[in-house]
Amino acid sequence: MSNNTGKVLESYPMNGGDGAYSYTKNSYLQRAATSITDAKIHEAITEKLDIGKLSSTSNTLRIADLGCSVGPNTFIAMQNVLEAMQHKYRTQDPSSKFPAFQVLYNDHASNDFNTLFASLPSERQYFAAGVPGSFYNRLFPKSSLHFVHSSYALQWLAKVPEEVLDKNSPAWNKGRIHYTNAAEDVGNAYAAQFAKDMGIFLDARAKELVAGGMMVLILPSIPDGIPNSRVPAGVMFDLLGSSLMDMAKEEIISESLVDSFNLPVYAASLKEMKDIIERNGCFSIEKIETTNPLSKIDIQLGTRPCTMHLRAGMEGIISKHFGNKIIDELFDRLDRKAEEYSYLLNASYTAGTQLFIVLTRK
Ligand code: SAH
Repeated sequence: MSNNTGKVLESYPMNGGDGAYSYTKNSYLQRAATSITDAKIHEAITEKLDIGKLSSTSNTLRIADLGCSVGPNTFIAMQNVLEAMQHKYRTQDPSSKFPAFQVLYNDHASNDFNTLFASLPSERQYFAAGVPGSFYNRLFPKSSLHFVHSSYALQWLAKVPEEVLDKNSPAWNKGRIHYTNAAEDVGNAYAAQFAKDMGIFLDARAKELVAGGMMVLILPSIPDGIPNSRVPAGVMFDLLGSSLMDMAKEEIISESLVDSFNLPVYAASLKEMKDIIERNGCFSIEKIETTNPLSKIDIQLGTRPCTMHLRAGMEGIISKHFGNKIIDELFDRLDRKAEEYSYLLNASYTAGTQLFIVLTRK
């Protein structure tokens, strides 16, 4: 499938299966991050979702999770949304029967849907279906969705911005793999790509959501005025880049291969997101706020969980570019580097690094 620019969309699935390096076993940071948003979602549904109106036009209410990966986080999030909707329905209309609920699990076609389907909760009170494809395309029929949820997926750009790969551009990102600590032009190229992708995302969802339907977006963010090198993810990306450069200097991999590799992930500020949503114009902003995703983790964030977490998410895209032979060595090096520079992680900002957004379709 192609997006609006006619380019084939890239896909970077998380590690599948349920082994030691799988997303299933290494996604508890995302879970901890979203556990603080469960109550906020409940509140948004209770206060802002007119479920009586939605169910008067359809006997099935459809909930989609975009970028669901393999679970278990998606199951917990969907159960939370379902219970909040049922609760709202019961309080609005105690006498009538529940409508049917359908949960649509979306991710790239290359996601491990087998693991997802095999672990669907057996007691679920909804019809489940998988929807393959990029959320930077249309995925659902017009006006067919009532609730959209997406957590920790929208930081993935549709592709690496072209300028950062262009030797003749001031945004050429030589010797780095991300905009963290890079030249300003590199950061600007990433920001422009994010704004473009998010615009496409909002256009597609505006068509798919019914009027009055709700969309909750949870994504990594950057506090105003803080450079990316001062948040945990930025520290880790920079250490990953310098581990790759060390391997290039030791001639284990070629330097040009590092120069041509960039992580297609971006953390937007609250203001950036607000501007993009307002420019789209199809949604009312019910809530937009930053939170601290790590406030529920009471231990000091160790370096090992950070590398395992990064590996579960990035192994696929790294092996695609460098081959899988370097993976173990690369992450061993990263482990040691993270240990050596743990003071950077410990001194990094965690407050304000998560965006929580509630929108309703006008
Ligand atoms: N929502 C889960 C998983 C987050 S991992 C949680 O909170 O734990 C991010 C997921 O987003 C990955 O599975 C990745 O494949 C998916 N993703 C990234 N870009 C995507 C796109 N353009 N379309 C659909 N899924 C995408």
